[in-house]
Amino acid sequence: MTENKAGTSIATLGEFGLIKHLTNKIKLKNSSSVVGVGDDAAVLNYENKKVVVTTDLLVEGIHFDLMYTPLKHLGYKSIAVNVSDVYAMNACPKQVTVSIAISKRFSLEAIEEIYAGIQLACENYNVDLVGGDTTSSLTGLCISVTAIGEGEAEKLTYRNGAKVNDLICVTGNLGAAYAGLQLLEREKRVFAGNPEIQPDLSGHDYILERQLKPEARKDIFERLQEANIVPTAMIDISDGLSSELMHLCDQSNKGCQIYEERIPIDYETHKMAEELNMNYLTFALNGGEDYELLFTVPLDKHQDIEKMEDVTVIGHVVEASKGLYLVTRDGNEIALQAQGWNPIKEQDEK
Ligand code: ADP
Ligand code: MG
Repeated sequence: MTENKAGTSIATLGEFGLIKHLTNKIKLKNSSSVVGVGDDAAVLNYENKKVVVTTDLLVEGIHFDLMYTPLKHLGYKSIAVNVSDVYAMNACPKQVTVSIAISKRFSLEAIEEIYAGIQLACENYNVDLVGGDTTSSLTGLCISVTAIGEGEAEKLTYRNGAKVNDLICVTGNLGAAYAGLQLLEREKRVFAGNPEIQPDLSGHDYILERQLKPEARKDIFERLQEANIVPTAMIDISDGLSSELMHLCDQSNKGCQIYEERIPIDYETHKMAEELNMNYLTFALNGGEDYELLFTVPLDKHQDIEKMEDVTVIGHVVEASKGLYLVTRDGNEIALQAQGWNPIKEQDEK
């Protein structure tokens, strides 16, 4: 178990004491952060930039399982998944607010761990924690993060801008976070059946890290800027490639053709799928939580994109009437299915 049942009771500090304890060392880094924690509201100054705002809510038992999620990683992930949405707009995250609901079973040390992860992510993504809310919960832990960022009006990327013949690009590799989740769930079941058996997670470091400590693609956002490329459309991959391609094509009123052999999948993801007797392609197409970027660029950007590290062209945009297809290695065309990763659906089926 990762939560700390002994440790200091939060009641000894009280709500205000806790907030102070967690936030007193914060130093604001960004010039757009005028006033942070401590007043009734934060004050931001974005002058002539467009402001993007996005929120995600993480609920214990639905989005994370504290049996195998270290609290520091959970804090980190709660920030990473939000700034990922800002990058998907081709905008730069600058501030976050963090709201938490905690039950009595969490000690002060446990909350400090969550905040250590939050602070590390704030450093890595160069965002300021400027506010939040703190309350108690009767049962589980909830964390809600709002991220705020800036972009230039003509450079913001929406889901609806893809054009026929645009190249479809993805960053990194796909399905790894889902492979990591499958491994953790398997070892959890083994442990539940026999607590004497220690989990066997060796040799799977990469997929575990992808599940437990995902990174948002700040590097790709920066590389696109350096290369002077503004994608025609962009989305981050939180629910699997199929589902995100559908959002993008649907909102752009286009179809797509992608190629199985082009989909980047890591060796460890392959290995895990094989071990579990599952199809690795299902991991990439329908697995969740990769937080890679999916974007389209005009055909004439082909050479620049080919040069870009960690970006793969997987296909191209076609007329809507042609539908959404995956061309397999043996040349068959399979219609893409909308099977986004839906934690609530998975819960209900249990
Ligand atoms: P209010 O009663 O106006 O909601 P709070 O006492 O909840 O004020 O919050 C006081 C200050 O602390 C505010 O600036 C708020 O944004 C900040 N704050 C509260 N909870 C958190 C948290 N979990 N993380 C960061 N800042 C927080
Ligand atoms: Mg409050």
